[in-house]
Amino acid sequence: MTLPLIDLHRHLEGAVRTSTVLDVAARTGHELASRSKPRTALVADGSEGGLLPYLAKVDVAIGVLSSLDDWSRAAGEAVDDAFDDGLDYLELRYCPGIIAHDTGLAAEAVIDAVSDAVAERSARRGLPVGLIGIVVRHLGAGSAEQQMATLLSRRESFCAVDLAGDEANFPAQLFSDAFGKARDAGLHVTIHAGEAAGPQSVWDTVNHLGAERIGHGVRSAEDPQLMEWLAEHGVTLEVSLTSNTQTGAAPSYAHHQIHKLLAAGVPVTLNTDNPRVSNVKLSQEHQAAMNEVGLTAEQLATIAQQSLAAKFS
Ligand SMILES: [Zn+2]
Repeated sequence: MTLPLIDLHRHLEGAVRTSTVLDVAARTGHELASRSKPRTALVADGSEGGLLPYLAKVDVAIGVLSSLDDWSRAAGEAVDDAFDDGLDYLELRYCPGIIAHDTGLAAEAVIDAVSDAVAERSARRGLPVGLIGIVVRHLGAGSAEQQMATLLSRRESFCAVDLAGDEANFPAQLFSDAFGKARDAGLHVTIHAGEAAGPQSVWDTVNHLGAERIGHGVRSAEDPQLMEWLAEHGVTLEVSLTSNTQTGAAPSYAHHQIHKLLAAGVPVTLNTDNPRVSNVKLSQEHQAAMNEVGLTAEQLATIAQQSLAAKFS
């Protein structure tokens, strides 16, 4: 029996193809096009020495794609790539606020361009895609309120909202008002936590932001009480095997926290995070789960069930 292939945690910015970034850079005269090894700015080869250097490689694409047409193209190609890898369902997330901040485009126009492109390509491919709007942490609480207001002005475009960026320096508590408004609007909530900060960050996220899922969350494995709580409340972790080892959130494939999390009954899923930056496909992550991490066929079936149960649309 073939298991469904479901990605619940994939960033559009980190999914923009290297070839597309370089094509746009050449067209616009962006300095990336004249570098001798531009790929090293866009793709992680092994450990990146922390979350922020990894995120810098995600962000490079945002600095290059400068028009609405560029974002439409990237969004359509992201759906194509998921389809070509054999996915049955995809949740694609992105941060209109950061794209607007870095390009000067209006965030609402970016949302409309991405939504239209994804709807068109999703229908053409027959691949259901849910969109998640991200609020970024490191512009602070005031900006977060504005970013959330923009996402809510396009409420119908999104199945959920997320908080991403500099987890270690911007704790969840700062964002409780913004995420309360999203919950009031009926949006699902997933939050990046337990990646660049420890278990307390995950506790803060479930206590202050009402997270139903946690982006990564792998450091929850450091706290048995937290694992028990997550299992009891069915809060699902969006694990990304390769990304987690590249950011240093997990020590290695073989010693990934997913072993402890599964043993404790915490619902986990397998996701790509940033296919370009991590240089992975979801099908490869599932291969790695078996061959490098050492998960059993039974565990993979459990993960597939948990992915189906945790999807937002
Ligand atoms: Zn992420």
